Parts: sequence; C-alpha cells; structure tokens
Amino acid sequence: MDTEQLMMKKSLYEGETWLGKPPEIEESRIEKTMEADVVVVGAGLAGVAAARAAAELGSTVLLLEKCEAPQARSGDFAVMDSRVADVWGRRDVDKVQIVNDLMRDMAYKVSQNILRRWAEEAGEAFDWYLEGYPDIPVLKTTAEVPPEGTKCWIQPRRCPAPESFENGTERFKCYQTTAWVRPTHIPVFQGNVQMLMQTGLAQCLFSAPVVKLLREKDGRVQGAVAQVGQDRYIKALARKGVVLSTGDYMSNAEMLRRFCPGMADTPQLWLGRDKNHSPSNTGDGHRMGMWIGAKLQDSPHAPCAHHMGSVFGASGFVLLNTRGLRFVNEDAPGQQIGSQIENLPDKTAWQFVDSNWPEQVRRVHPN
Ligand SMILES: Cc1cc2nc3c(=O)[nH]c(=O)nc-3n(C[C@H](O)[C@H](O)[C@H](O)COP(=O)(O)OP(=O)(O)OC[C@H]3O[C@@H](n4cnc5c(N)ncnc54)[C@H](O)[C@@H]3O)c2cc1C
Repeated sequence: MDTEQLMMKKSLYEGETWLGKPPEIEESRIEKTMEADVVVVGAGLAGVAAARAAAELGSTVLLLEKCEAPQARSGDFAVMDSRVADVWGRRDVDKVQIVNDLMRDMAYKVSQNILRRWAEEAGEAFDWYLEGYPDIPVLKTTAEVPPEGTKCWIQPRRCPAPESFENGTERFKCYQTTAWVRPTHIPVFQGNVQMLMQTGLAQCLFSAPVVKLLREKDGRVQGAVAQVGQDRYIKALARKGVVLSTGDYMSNAEMLRRFCPGMADTPQLWLGRDKNHSPSNTGDGHRMGMWIGAKLQDSPHAPCAHHMGSVFGASGFVLLNTRGLRFVNEDAPGQQIGSQIENLPDKTAWQFVDSNWPEQVRRVHPN
C-alpha cells in the first residue's frame, strides 16, 4: 500500500466523534517544562517495565500516569523457558507449534512477528520481572500450600495433569506454560516500581493524564502535555523518545461500539480508576497517537474480555442456548466459549451439570 492509500485509510475516521481533536492549550496554562531522556505515558505493566528498562540502561525517565498510583491486575503469565519452567521441568515446549496454533485460533489477524517474539522472549522477560520479588516461592503442584507469610507465590495450573491427559491427542491443545501468580502479582509489580525508583533516574507524576503528544510536522515525537490540575499543564520533553503505554479502550463506549461492537453490552471488570473514580482505560493513547499521524489497526479489534464460560468456567459440561440448543463444542478453551456466547442474540447460555459434578469438576480443577 503506498502512502497516499494509507492516508486515505487514516482519513476514514475523520469527523467521527470518538476520535475528537487535540485540545488547544494556551502557553500561559503550561506551568513548567520538564525534560528527560525518555518520557513514558502510562504506568501500567508495560509502562513500568519500559521505564525500569530505560533507567537501568542509564536513561533519565519521566513517567506520567493518569491515576493516583501505578496500575496492575491479574496473575497469569506465560513462562516458556523461564526459571519457573525449569522448576516444573517444562522447558521443552514447542514454541513454533504454540505460535502456529495461536495464529490459527486468532484467524491470522494478529502480527505473527509480535507473537513469535512473545513466544521467544516471554520466559526471559518474566524472569526479569520477577527480580521485583526475588524470593517468590515457586510451588510444584496446583494443590501445594504456600509457605506462611508470603505475600504472593507462583503455582502451576493443572499440575500434575490427569493421568489420561495426552496433549498430542487433544482437539484443543493445552500447553503447560502458564505461571499463576497467586493471589495477585501486585507485590512483584510494586517491587519493579521500587527498582525503578532506586535507579535514581526516574521521576513519576501521578494524577497527571497526558492530553496530547508533541510532534513537529513529519518529525519525531518530541514529548507530551499532561494535565496536573484544573486548567494547569506541564510540558514533558523527551531527548530520546516517548513510550506510549496507555492500555486499552474498554471503558470508552464509543470506541467499543466502533471497533469491538460485540463487547458493547458486556459487563466490564476494570480496576484502574483515576482520582475522580472514572475508569482509566479510555483509549487516550490510541486517539493521541492518531492525532499526530499514527495508523490505528483496522477493525475488528480483539476484545479484552474475561467471561470464561460460567460458574464452572470452561469445564466440559453441556452448554445450551435459551432455545435449548447446543451451539458450541464445550471442549473449547474459555475465551473461545466466551466468544460463542457473545455471538448469541441474547448473549445467554445455560450450563448443565449432573449430580456427579464434584467428581467431574475435580478433573478440570484439581484443587
Ligand atoms: C480482570 C482482568 C484480568 C486480566 N488477567 C490477565 C492475566 O491473568 N494475564 C494476562 O497476561 N493478562 C491479563 N489481563 C490483561 C492485562 O491486564 C493487560 O493486557 C495488561 O494490563 C496491559 O498492560 P498495559 O501496561 O499495556 O496497560 P494497562 O495495564 O491498562 O496500563 C495502562 C496505564 O496507562 C494509564 N493511562 C491511561 N490513559 C492515560 C493518559 N492519558 N495519561 C497517562 N496515563 C494514562 C492507565 O491509568 C494505566 O495505568 C487481564 C485484564 C483484566 C481486565
């Protein structure tokens, strides 16, 4: 595609209300200009990791975050080739096969290069991230109890696997590559923030949403403008570069309807909130990037959905729609089952279990 065609695609969205326009800010409203080698916009997992990596390489960093503190959630991590995989004796997974399977699952809509890089480097990155909590216990089975007093620990899922389990014969392959940081990885995350601050090269501004990026026409991105109070702003200039890590747009109803319509009516679970208690994931980075010339990936976008089946999760019990008909192979993984439920007109399904469920469910969730 040549540049002209690309520009035409970009202008596809022009005039749509979700895109908005960069705010006009009078110079008199800018109370100071700050400078760093690297300006990082958004202190989630990606932003904190980028900031720590840059600072450890000797760059000064200015981290700008919309909420009152850095934000993280959840607990499942891919650990191919990490030291955790060593503890579990699971180093020999076939990463090419994993990438191929995932590409097929995602209908080849994602970038294979990015996915491959994830498969190649996730283990090393996870080990690096664990430096934030170096003594974290790594348990050997799903049922093992963690040592008393530990803030968090790592547990394998479905380990040991049921005796009858043979991945080669599974219709939906299940690679034993997930580390479950329980009850949450927040202590590890906080350790990473501490490591960043200990470099002495970082400065963080909280409750400082970035409202626009600065770029000279066709030149490099020079920095950002962040709001630090009622009609008060700072300019953050970056000598080396700006990292845009503002997360997703699940709490922006207009963007959701435009690019992920299937998710528009789905209840959303979001924990990151700013000081006004508004959800922080409103697609600011997508819009700010586009205002200065970035191209948004064509829709449909991947939803950040977390509705893994029902109360029994994605366990292989019979699922019926509200007309009493089966609509999916219940052996499919949770995200895929969730997508199929999303496709139903009323987004509703019934899961049927019989009196033997306590025995059956144990085969899926050993603890
Ligand atoms: C309930 C739930 C459970 C999940 N569980 C898992 C899991 O087990 N494993 C897994 O791999 N993934 C999981 N995910 C997905 C995972 O949370 C995200 O992929 C990950 O957090 C993305 O990191 P990020 O740093 O890119 O974005 P985020 O974590 O969203 O961080 C973005 C940051 O940017 C800030 N920000 C936004 N706009 C601005 C602005 N204008 N100026 C300054 N700052 C701004 C936000 O406040 C936030 O701190 C889960 C998601 C949810 C919702």
